[in-house]
Amino acid sequence: MHIGRYNTSKKIYIYHMHLNRERYDERRKVKKTYKMELVFHKCLFFLTLFFLQFSISTTAFFNEFLDCIATTTSSANIVFTPNDTLYSTVLQSSIHNLRAIDTPTSTKPLAIITPFLYSHVQSAVICCVRFGLNVRIRSGGHDYEGLSYTSRNHTPFILLDLNQLRSVEVDLDSKTAWVESGATLGELYYWVSQKSDLLGFPAGECTSVGVGGQLSGGGFGMLARKYGLSVDNVVDARLVDVNGRIRDRDSMGEDWFWAVRGGGGGSFGVVVSWKINLVYVPRTVTVFSLSKPLDENGTQLVHKWQHVAPNVTNDLFINLIISPIQEVGGSSWMMQVTINSLFLGTTNQLLEIVSDVFPELGLQAKDCIQMSWIESVVYYSFYLRGQSIDVLKNRPAMPKSYFKVKSDYVTKPIPIDALEEIWKWCLRANLSLLIEPHGGKMSEIDETATPYPHREGNLYMIQYIMGWDDEDGGFKASKRYVGWVRRVYEKMTPYVSKKPRGAYVNFRDLDLGTINCNASYGEAKRWGKKYFGGNFRRLAIVKGMVDPANFFSSEQSVPPLVLSSSY
Ligand SMILES: Cc1cc2nc3c(=O)[nH]c(=O)nc-3n(C[C@H](O)[C@H](O)[C@H](O)COP(=O)(O)OP(=O)(O)OC[C@H]3O[C@@H](n4cnc5c(N)ncnc54)[C@H](O)[C@@H]3O)c2cc1C
Repeated sequence: MHIGRYNTSKKIYIYHMHLNRERYDERRKVKKTYKMELVFHKCLFFLTLFFLQFSISTTAFFNEFLDCIATTTSSANIVFTPNDTLYSTVLQSSIHNLRAIDTPTSTKPLAIITPFLYSHVQSAVICCVRFGLNVRIRSGGHDYEGLSYTSRNHTPFILLDLNQLRSVEVDLDSKTAWVESGATLGELYYWVSQKSDLLGFPAGECTSVGVGGQLSGGGFGMLARKYGLSVDNVVDARLVDVNGRIRDRDSMGEDWFWAVRGGGGGSFGVVVSWKINLVYVPRTVTVFSLSKPLDENGTQLVHKWQHVAPNVTNDLFINLIISPIQEVGGSSWMMQVTINSLFLGTTNQLLEIVSDVFPELGLQAKDCIQMSWIESVVYYSFYLRGQSIDVLKNRPAMPKSYFKVKSDYVTKPIPIDALEEIWKWCLRANLSLLIEPHGGKMSEIDETATPYPHREGNLYMIQYIMGWDDEDGGFKASKRYVGWVRRVYEKMTPYVSKKPRGAYVNFRDLDLGTINCNASYGEAKRWGKKYFGGNFRRLAIVKGMVDPANFFSSEQSVPPLVLSSSY
């Protein structure tokens, strides 16, 4: 039995070596002849590997791979295999969506590598390429479908967990910072605030999200109307490419650098660090958070919000959370809207603006709280509200749950009677909506400036959020809850963007489509255009130039498109 396994693994190894040579030759050939599409042998290899997955971990093949890592990194403590007692702890450490990992059909990593030097990342990539192993990159582990730590298409993979690469170096003179991908947004915000209370960074509200994934896909937060997405403020990046070389903006070139800033994680290399422009925040900001029942008056407010929030001064950000709540003292449920706001100024200035553009809100001074920008970060990272800002540097994990999210963009205000219908669908499905305004700086930036195409003309973005826990049935109940979100999403069709119906790549949704490792650009267009609009083709062309053999791949990575010379 043991010998049999060894022989099989030997065959795989030999096949793999042949494959690598083939891929190398192919790359050269492609460069020469500019073929329209590449043909890959990778899937066959991965499929073989899948059927042998259990035996592989104990075979010479796998040991040779581990030797490769050990000799090239000279570090024994960064690799965890399923035989290690810590494997499960490390795997679970930053998993956020329990639905993704509990799936009986999902595949767990053959090994986890936790680099603390860039050279470790280089070694990991070189060894994975040499041994034909797919790699999944994880920074904060918040991918909605778990693509950073599991494989739905059964591709065996090595998990490269960047959690230990998390330094934040702020340069006050140039008002920039280098931040490593494994830092959380909370750490980034915290260390910036420790250098200056007049500097911040536009990124997401959830402080446990990883910098690596967030900046790879865009990065939308409460400063977006003032300063755009995170990626609009990225000025350089260091990335490990498919050959294990470290590149920066200069050595990547502008097309590759463009793709890295929002083209979605896991397609263009392992980004180890980012240089970001820090932005000005006033010493005092004002927040308010008001909840109202979605009766007739509440619906009128939401309707008016659609006209106000995307058009008001860029200093004011107001989003909405619409969710079912249990009526006080009763067993029945109703819909409620929570109106959350960050204003870059004082309460008096805010009241003046709101009384002018949104008097229906009835905002009063007692509803408003003045604080520093970094305090507002903790305030809006809901699971931390009430704690000191120092909590951010401890990387507190957000509670895990099972969830499914879908996203949409709205380009025309939804009429009141339709809103009332939508509340009924949400109530029936026990579904929440998180609605984030665009406009302001988001609209001023050209839709081709970064891969994120949802710019001018988009009023707001909707997230349909279905969350549940073990008490609600855990993983076994997934089909039911996911079905409910899908039904509401279908019903929303008349009210949202069309041709394509837009979606935000950081709100990863595998319902939009998946590909296997040798899929073509044509096959990926179905979901690629939703995330990236007209930018998807340019992304695929960049991918064809920098990773034509599709080493960095997943169920929703950008496939390579290699053009004929007549292009
Ligand atoms: C609770 C919660 C709140 C959120 N709030 C917001 C929000 O306010 N605004 C917003 O824009 N988004 C938000 N998101 C979405 C979030 O931005 C994305 O899920 C993001 O991709 C997560 O990054 P991560 O590093 O934590 O995830 P990971 O799961 O580690 O990575 C996500 C993807 O990026 C790839 N990747 C990760 N690191 C790298 C790297 N260094 N180089 C190359 N590829 C990499 C992964 O392989 C994976 O495909 C939220 C998500 C959650 C779960």
